[in-house]
Amino acid sequence: MKYIYGPVPSRRLGFSLGVDLVPYKTCPFDCIYCQLGKTTNKTVTRKEYSTKEKILRDVAETLAASQPLHCGGKGRATDKKIDYITLAGSGEPTLNSGIGWLIKEIKKITQTSIAVLTNGSLLWDKSLRQELLLADLVVPSLDAVTENVFKSINCPHQSLDINKIIKGLKEFRKEFKNTIWLEIMLVKGVNDSKEEIEKFKNLISEIRPDKVHLNTVVRPPTDKSAHPLSIEKLEEIRDFFGENCEVIAEFKREKQADFSEDIEQAIIELIKRRPVTLSDINNSLGIHRNELIKYLESSEKSNRIKKTNYEGVTYYEYK
Ligand code: SF4
Repeated sequence: MKYIYGPVPSRRLGFSLGVDLVPYKTCPFDCIYCQLGKTTNKTVTRKEYSTKEKILRDVAETLAASQPLHCGGKGRATDKKIDYITLAGSGEPTLNSGIGWLIKEIKKITQTSIAVLTNGSLLWDKSLRQELLLADLVVPSLDAVTENVFKSINCPHQSLDINKIIKGLKEFRKEFKNTIWLEIMLVKGVNDSKEEIEKFKNLISEIRPDKVHLNTVVRPPTDKSAHPLSIEKLEEIRDFFGENCEVIAEFKREKQADFSEDIEQAIIELIKRRPVTLSDINNSLGIHRNELIKYLESSEKSNRIKKTNYEGVTYYEYK
């Protein structure tokens, strides 16, 4: 399943079956806080980076295989526990020109809601906005209001400017009838000045997302100088933004049913996508921590993964 990962525990989406639409780090941005590493293909060109029919086949096969274990199924997880099919992955999913077709086709085979996680960089493109209209939830990020902050935090493709992106977001809000959660990633000393935060507040009242999610650097960033805001500071900004704003809480959910086969490979597939903690793997795969440690030690010994420490928390990364 080249294009599928998870279900992974998500702080916002519950258990999310990830669908990866573009090759690793194909993105119009190179954010200093990115947990995936440096952007290797910085582009705004939309094309079928990964073949849409093959992606759809992987989604369909995953859903078909997802049978409850107590019914004798051999699937990796119970279908009931997938809260969202999430178009996202290891780059910017809206770069894939097949995204509209995929949303339409996935809707034909499942009633599970579809979410799109995007950096919002291409929403100025009217045809893309049209393609996203059938999604149930779109989560665009917006990390800056002013141009210099935009460049500092997102290191964007040279053709982009923040006004173009903000205009696209406003247009999208007018056209899209389903749910929009606007995510703001706050980085200490970069986009958290009083002036920028006040500008954010004004802009939010113009864009009118259903919710605003405040996030900060909780996983190891590409640029080691990107630091998180304290919870107190995040809460202060949340209160300033108003009632539809929330700080994304730590993930807490009941465990997934146990996997039936090839546990080590399932763990590796998770780790390949992004650095994860023992709790993340535990929540996602429903495997006891003591059991997990055996697999992790074995994968470390065979040089497939490595352990890193960030802000006192241990993460497992793919090597
Ligand atoms: S938009 Fe997302 S994938 Fe692209 S560089 Fe930023 S954090 Fe990484």
